Amino acid sequence: MGTKLLETLEKCYVLGNITTMGNGTIPSEAETIESDRLWLVEQGQSADGGLIDPFGRRVTYLRVSVTDRCDFRCVYCMAEDMSFLPKAEVLTLEELDRICTAFAERGVRKLRITGGEPLVRRDVMQLFRRLGRHLDSGLLDELTLTTNGSQLEKHAADLFAAGVRRINVSIDTLDPGKFRTITRRGDLARVLKGVRAAQAAGHEIKINTVALRGVNDDEFDTIIRWCGDEGLDLTLIETMPMGEIDEDRTDRYLPLSMVRADLRSRWTLEETDYRTGGPSRYVRIRETGRRLGFITPLSHNFCELCNRVRLTCTGTLYMCLGQQDAADLRASLRLAPDDDTLLHASIDEAIGRKPKGHDFVIDRRHRDPAVPRHMSVTGG
Ligand code: SAM
Ligand code: SF4
Repeated sequence: MGTKLLETLEKCYVLGNITTMGNGTIPSEAETIESDRLWLVEQGQSADGGLIDPFGRRVTYLRVSVTDRCDFRCVYCMAEDMSFLPKAEVLTLEELDRICTAFAERGVRKLRITGGEPLVRRDVMQLFRRLGRHLDSGLLDELTLTTNGSQLEKHAADLFAAGVRRINVSIDTLDPGKFRTITRRGDLARVLKGVRAAQAAGHEIKINTVALRGVNDDEFDTIIRWCGDEGLDLTLIETMPMGEIDEDRTDRYLPLSMVRADLRSRWTLEETDYRTGGPSRYVRIRETGRRLGFITPLSHNFCELCNRVRLTCTGTLYMCLGQQDAADLRASLRLAPDDDTLLHASIDEAIGRKPKGHDFVIDRRHRDPAVPRHMSVTGG
């Protein structure tokens, strides 16, 4: 059992940030870290074999990046000349299915397929079809997708047939010129065709818009109105300091608290308790009837409810988007190709190290990203 877990526990003690766990208080009579660890493991075991982290949070949501490649180069996400991973390092579709299935067997109810751009991965529809069997069996509640929409027109109907019902499409501007500038190569008209095709196929669509100071901050009203007219929900996302890009992020950072306050002067934002299992906080806009979500990763408000972990396309499991600690599930897979015992043990060990929260800070003195890997590696 991992020295890492012991180290984490030690760190938590030093920081004094473990005092309670789920429904219990850490016993004060515990003499050693090892006996506390055993107590934690006991507390974390659920009768149904589900995954429970050291803070009593049940892991029910897995985001899976199926490729680091993309046909766009969004300015906040990638550098112009990105180098991508060699194919041999990337999990095969069979391996991705094996890991997703292992998580579903351990109580994960929702899978989100992301990337890079998931729909540029060759034969990715095979993976969707395979994972769809867990919707039929009731092991999964939901299989969803985050996409830039460039290939959506082609795949919308097949995705629906595989069991996907909700798709997030990332659109930061409705101005075609600006869209090309932000994505460095995207065609807005093609993305909008994808959105329409997906709606026609029966999908519910949510638009993701990264709020960028001086780039799209004059467009939020237009985007809100458009979403209202087209029957789309919207989530605004704060920029996260992830990965080296070609520009200084502090110039683009726009706190959503400011956006929200500004929107309130023109729109009626009604509080709702609607949640999608993600970190978004939603309001309903009375004038359009549509939902508006805010993802503010730089504030700590969603860590305490975090139910998710993220898998990269190389099989690295990140227990927190904003931390570097990770587990190599690919090694466990490839060491035992026909037996998932080792995989399950590695998943348990990893969940036992899930940290309490992230350390994102947009640092105004240094240009270094808080997290060196790109969002396209971990998936959004
Ligand atoms: N290519 C797909 C897309 O763009 O929807 C899926 C992957 S992308 C990494 C997922 C989401 O992360 C997108 O909505 C994107 O806008 C967002 N994103 C990427 N880099 C980001 C950053 N540094 N800060 C905040 N959001 C980011
Ligand atoms: Fe590609 Fe999505 Fe990153 Fe844009 S945000 S470069 S579409 S992975």
